[in-house]
Amino acid sequence: MRVMSVGAHPDDIEFLCAGTIARYTARGDYAVNVVFTNGDMGHKLIGPEELAKIRCEEARRAAATVGADFKMLGEPDEWLFHDKRTRLMMIDTIREFRPDVIITHSPEDYHPDHRCCYDIVFAASFLCTVPHIETEHEATDHVATLLLMDTLGGTNFMPEEYVDISDTLELKVQALLQHESQVKWLRDHDNIDVAEFVRSLASTRGLQCSVPFAEGFRTEKLWPRLKPERLLP
Ligand SMILES: [Zn+2]
Repeated sequence: MRVMSVGAHPDDIEFLCAGTIARYTARGDYAVNVVFTNGDMGHKLIGPEELAKIRCEEARRAAATVGADFKMLGEPDEWLFHDKRTRLMMIDTIREFRPDVIITHSPEDYHPDHRCCYDIVFAASFLCTVPHIETEHEATDHVATLLLMDTLGGTNFMPEEYVDISDTLELKVQALLQHESQVKWLRDHDNIDVAEFVRSLASTRGLQCSVPFAEGFRTEKLWPRLKPERLLP
């Protein structure tokens, strides 16, 4: 199976679904992490241009930690908009990687970039099959199933499916800690310890499905994205 995860910012995939990606890759599935914005607003002291480079490399290392490929789309952080250009960018990215499953943000998450990312992925993952929409890569022949990952802190999100990440939680934490520029920034700006933050949410989701640690998901329940089999590991 081919799995493409799309995060708005360089560390979102690690926060919200890296334990699941590690399980996909461990069983031999192909995974790629696609990051929409360059994260260049995520610091007080490091300037935007330098920060964008640092965060791209951090996200690349984080993806490698869970066995995933990586692509940075490089839109400006905090200014992700859904327009023809960004929609075409995502259509072409989906055509490039040709996933069976796409994991992205819930439309009800806290950050405007996360919500916008969902909107773009939702549109592009359908329109990538339309041959008359021309991009660099060839149109796909199917609409990928869309899985919505948890929200930051799990607010406003009741999972419908769970993945037991008890065996991959520490790999998820290691992947998250590759985002070295964010560890202090998130402590100062958002008052969170990143490792503690993801362990707590994984523990809560685990409690809900009777395992030590889990990640929660919902499926976009629309024709023609639904499949009879379970697509999560
Ligand atoms: Zn984010």
